Amino acid sequence: MEIVQGIHQIKVPIPGGTLDHVNAYILQSDKGNVLIDTGFDTPEAFAALRDGLKLSSLGFKDITHIIITHIHPDHYGMTAKLKQMTGATVAFSETEERLLESRYQNPESLLAETRGLLQSNGVPEEYLPGLVEVAMPLREFVGVVPADTKLKGGEKISIGSLELRVILTPGHSPGHICLYEPKRKFLFSGDHVLPDITSHVGFHPQSGENPLGDFLAALEALTQLDINLAFPGHGSVFSGIRLRINELLYHHQERERAIVIAAEDEMKTAYQIASEILWMPTGEPMPFSKLSNFDKRLAVLETLAHLKYLMSKGKAQKFTKDGLDLYWTGE
Ligand SMILES: [Zn+2]
Repeated sequence: MEIVQGIHQIKVPIPGGTLDHVNAYILQSDKGNVLIDTGFDTPEAFAALRDGLKLSSLGFKDITHIIITHIHPDHYGMTAKLKQMTGATVAFSETEERLLESRYQNPESLLAETRGLLQSNGVPEEYLPGLVEVAMPLREFVGVVPADTKLKGGEKISIGSLELRVILTPGHSPGHICLYEPKRKFLFSGDHVLPDITSHVGFHPQSGENPLGDFLAALEALTQLDINLAFPGHGSVFSGIRLRINELLYHHQERERAIVIAAEDEMKTAYQIASEILWMPTGEPMPFSKLSNFDKRLAVLETLAHLKYLMSKGKAQKFTKDGLDLYWTGE
């Protein structure tokens, strides 16, 4: 569907899970067409993309450039297949590209590291296999292809009359990018800023040292940009991004407060803290015990991201005892 002149949005279905679709965008220019993000590599996702293109009087052959905001399976999964079909050049962040092999091709060491991380952060032995392996089935829906153009952030991509600026926005993923179209002041925000849900920011073996600090800094930096409309990775196109950024900053402050309170009288593991606070996987507050394995894992890793961020500000301390990492936020 052409949502504004020359920009088409295709809602690509996501198998299972709490999100029902990812947005793929086609940007038309006089010298070619850009596809931003792809969806999982499933027959349903492929059919949705094909039908969406058809509705816009386009075909796969019309896609000349594919740009991926980050390599999570819902955004990157179908890239390899589409590159093969279209011959388009593929661009995404070099930081993301470095993660491909350990994430999708040879995950053994990543699984071992994740297991060690969850273990030292207090996840009980009986829950470990479920929480470690929970993301593995998604690999089935991902075809791996390297980037033809490795992005660092700061580049200008020009395709005929269309110009896109690459903005590095780490946090949700360490090499996440947003794309800014300066003529009409449009931002393709990927999962960095979403209209209805807060994107997950967790500490894990591929996240970098302080993912939440990176995420919040990248959010603040976006407020310097003049943006008329945001085109997110999930949900509807929206205006008023500054208000949304303020809401997200507030959300993280609230969560930080809950975490500080949970660990101010007594040293606790990230797992203990996560299990004492409320989570909102679907927008409604929910106790930890009611979360799915997937969301439990996200909750522990998100708590850990907060603790690392608090440590970077001198507001938390870490102790190690009997192989467990314990955090204390008291004074
Ligand atoms: Zn996503």
